Amino acid sequence: MAIEKIFRAYLDFMNEKYRHEHLPDKIHVHDLVRCKHKSELEVLFPEGSYKLSPVLFLGEAVDEFVKNLVLNYKEKLFKDLVSTTSEVEKKISVNGKEITITGRPDLVMEDSVIEVKYSRTPEDKPLEHHIAQLKLYMYLTNKRKGILVYFTPHGLREFIFEEEISDNFVHELINNWKTPRYDWECQYCNYREICPYRIYPNEKKEIIEAEKQIEKEKIEEIEIKKDD
Ligand code: SF4
Repeated sequence: MAIEKIFRAYLDFMNEKYRHEHLPDKIHVHDLVRCKHKSELEVLFPEGSYKLSPVLFLGEAVDEFVKNLVLNYKEKLFKDLVSTTSEVEKKISVNGKEITITGRPDLVMEDSVIEVKYSRTPEDKPLEHHIAQLKLYMYLTNKRKGILVYFTPHGLREFIFEEEISDNFVHELINNWKTPRYDWECQYCNYREICPYRIYPNEKKEIIEAEKQIEKEKIEEIEIKKDD
């Protein structure tokens, strides 16, 4: 079947494009903006890294198509294009340890970086992890300008960021790197069935409610003691 061969090729392509080393002193942008434990599971179970999902396939297709368009129309429309494939990295000292941050932005232009995203629905504002990813690329390429471009079946969006990205931004991302980074990640994670850290959709809400209840009981206890 043609479909099966296409998806076989797609998985091989994804493996070549995104496979990278996981070293204690080298952090990939892709990993830093999401769940910390997921990177560890990808080392243990590389077979589970990519889902056979048509939506993810479409997202990747849009990404590659845009990069090809920009490259093919460089002379006519994108004279300021520097690269569609560069691997960039920078060393940074974090808590007394030297760490290399590395990543591959979609489009590096002379004065900016551009990240292309595919989404099922248009968003009024860009997603937090996409902003963090873009800012890390701005940091790695020493650009003050970054552009997030969203393609959706219902419309397009473009968000522009102009600022100097400091070492502090990267320090914060590394020091606050947790498992998962966002509660919603577990719902979409390929490893959720075997992951001991998985957060179930209502679990967080229940924990917060339980904590509120304990706090309330403590206050009531203190007030009763005062009355005595
Ligand atoms: S299930 Fe959640 S905590 Fe576990 S690896 Fe996936 S995203 Fe991370």
